[in-house]
Amino acid sequence: MRKITADAIYTVSGERLVGTILVLDNQGTIVAIEPLAAHDLASVERYEGVIVPGFVNAHCHLELSHMKGRINTGTQLIPFITSVVQNRAASPELIETAMRAAEQEMLEGGIVAVGDISNQTDTFALKAASKLRFFTFVEFFDLLQTHDADKVFNQYNQVYQQAPKTGKDAASCVPHAPYSVSDKLFGLLNTVQSGLTTISIHNQETQPETELFMTKSGDFVRFYEGFGMKLDDFEAIGQTSIHYALARMNPQHRSLFVHNTLTSAEDLATAMRWSEHTFWATCPNANLYIENRLPNYKIFMDAGAKVCVGTDSLTSNWKLSILDELKTIAKYQSYVPFETMLRWATLNGAEALGMEAQLGSIEVGKQPGLNLITGLDARGLPGEHTQVRVL
Ligand SMILES: [Zn+2]
Repeated sequence: MRKITADAIYTVSGERLVGTILVLDNQGTIVAIEPLAAHDLASVERYEGVIVPGFVNAHCHLELSHMKGRINTGTQLIPFITSVVQNRAASPELIETAMRAAEQEMLEGGIVAVGDISNQTDTFALKAASKLRFFTFVEFFDLLQTHDADKVFNQYNQVYQQAPKTGKDAASCVPHAPYSVSDKLFGLLNTVQSGLTTISIHNQETQPETELFMTKSGDFVRFYEGFGMKLDDFEAIGQTSIHYALARMNPQHRSLFVHNTLTSAEDLATAMRWSEHTFWATCPNANLYIENRLPNYKIFMDAGAKVCVGTDSLTSNWKLSILDELKTIAKYQSYVPFETMLRWATLNGAEALGMEAQLGSIEVGKQPGLNLITGLDARGLPGEHTQVRVL
């Protein structure tokens, strides 16, 4: 049994608590939340700073950890993707070592659960044995080549069969992005999901994506031609890419749209009318790394959208730290209140992954993990001197 308190406790689902202690059992489950005054001070661990729930990293690619520092910044998405394809090959030992280091970095940074994209089985043994909970999104793409859809479907379905999906972990089959999944492959994906789950998709990350769907022009057309691929089966829809995805996805599932740097208020409203279960993962440092731009968070706040926070992979980020992502939000869009970004980094992510019964907020009966945040700046926001420590 532990009794813990700090200057304040952000429960996220309810009040900010002062003069209160958390009582935890040996597994870290919160068994009571009580006034500090009712307890012998000698029996209580007291900290300077604020206590928040464990962080949920809504978007990562653990299997790409070995490319840390190897891909140029600021190139924009299409050259970035090309560079990843060219640099991905590495020895199993190097891949394994990099993934282990990335897992450790997330644990030490107060992350408790990860929504992780997998194209391969490399991460699966690590995930099954990890203290982190994983929702593995096995990602399918046929690069809009309808004649490849069946082959690709069978290939990635083999990966899905091996993904850890019992006990603490979960998995689903997901489309990579609107610009890389044919109508036929979307249809095949809709046949495999049994029961309600979470479907992740990269969304509206770069301007050429919009051009492809509006007018079948721009750098994506040239990208495909450069690889000798024809786009004969693809027709522009005269709307932004999210409309193509929405018409082919199942609104009953939880849908996790990732990046959304070019998402407009109208796109957001359309998606939120389409389904009550939409989630919007932002990966600010990866957006700066690849495209040097950020989503407009005001649009998401005004719409009441459920924003989550992801790190993306070490291929497109300097660290796997949710606190660092919050520092970036606070630096460039400082109107986002601390409580709001904290909810994005905890409970919204837990809900997106279907793990909110255990994680995401400080409530009796949950086992959310506890983080101590110190050194918030004068505005009460994460800044240069802010640190996180797992309690
Ligand atoms: Zn990604």
